[in-house]
Amino acid sequence: SCTSQAASPLQQVSEPSGYSNDECAAMDWDNLGFGLKPTDYMYSMKCYDDQIFKKGQLCRYGKIELSPSAGILSYGQGIFEGLKAYRKKDGQIVLFRPDQNAIRMKVGAERMCMPYPSTEQFIEAVKQTTRANKRWVPPPGKGSLYIRPILMGSGPVLGLAPASEYTFLAFASPVGNYFKEGLAPLNLYVEDEFHRATPGGAGGVKSISNYAPALKALGRATNRGFSDVLYLDSVNKKYVEEVSTCNIFIVKDNVISTPATNGTILPGVTRKSIIEIARDYGYRVEERSIPLDELLASEEVFCTGTAVVVAPVGSVTYQDRRIEFKTDARPVCSELYSALVGIQTGLIQDNKGWTVEI
Ligand code: PMP
Repeated sequence: SCTSQAASPLQQVSEPSGYSNDECAAMDWDNLGFGLKPTDYMYSMKCYDDQIFKKGQLCRYGKIELSPSAGILSYGQGIFEGLKAYRKKDGQIVLFRPDQNAIRMKVGAERMCMPYPSTEQFIEAVKQTTRANKRWVPPPGKGSLYIRPILMGSGPVLGLAPASEYTFLAFASPVGNYFKEGLAPLNLYVEDEFHRATPGGAGGVKSISNYAPALKALGRATNRGFSDVLYLDSVNKKYVEEVSTCNIFIVKDNVISTPATNGTILPGVTRKSIIEIARDYGYRVEERSIPLDELLASEEVFCTGTAVVVAPVGSVTYQDRRIEFKTDARPVCSELYSALVGIQTGLIQDNKGWTVEI
């Protein structure tokens, strides 16, 4: 168990999630949202001065003990990931491209001056977390098990410096649709006061510190009835970047375009997969700067992300101007959604080796 690491500042306080088999059996799989539903186990591994992660272990999901001077608490030295496991019709459980999340964690760790687990260690951690919480993977077509790996500076610091000790954790929660809209089109609000990222900053990695500053803009938008915020670049305030937790695409004259990832946009695993699928389907796909005006004049707009999958955008509001996109026919978005979900859930044969059996 996690308590065996006696000298560790991160000790597992025994507090299992407390769900019985009956409660799992009674889950309302048809109405899963994106709220946290604690599961049975989490995975943890640590790294000390030698910068090498030791063999990790599963323990009951529950509270952790952390030094008040841990680097993550004062200086936000932490990054996280998010990926999903799906239950296929034949009962097999698969992860979608876990290697891509491992690589993104490595890139993020380097940016945040942190050591990182090897790709093999990362995938093993995610597999073990999924296997241990297998009963929480929703039935085929009802949702997925979302796995949240976290890497943080857990060692004590006072002055600004990298921590001397790091902890990797992974926990899981069954999830359904991310937005309350379900699969209905999203209504985005273009944010022209707050920015998510600046050139030279850490917007291009999944740093913990990127998200709390976005809450204010998100709250303002959702209070006004919008689904989410669309961010503009912070230099020109002219080009679209991304949404709070997903990437954005536009379609015009059968050409699909998405903002290039130049350090201020998170390189989404879903974004990368959709670009590849779209090219396989014969579309021209461009990664470049996209002025807001061009987005507002496009035929289709959609978002991609692990949580949102491929979500159509129904309207974009900029200042007092609300532009509606055609709601009935969304041929490109629907086609790409079906292609991606098909591979993820086993309805379409995976010729790319993107799905990994646990
Ligand atoms: N942008 C941001 C800011 C995000 O947090 C996410 C979610 N990781 C994405 C885009 C989409 O990335 P992915 O497709 O890997 O989930």
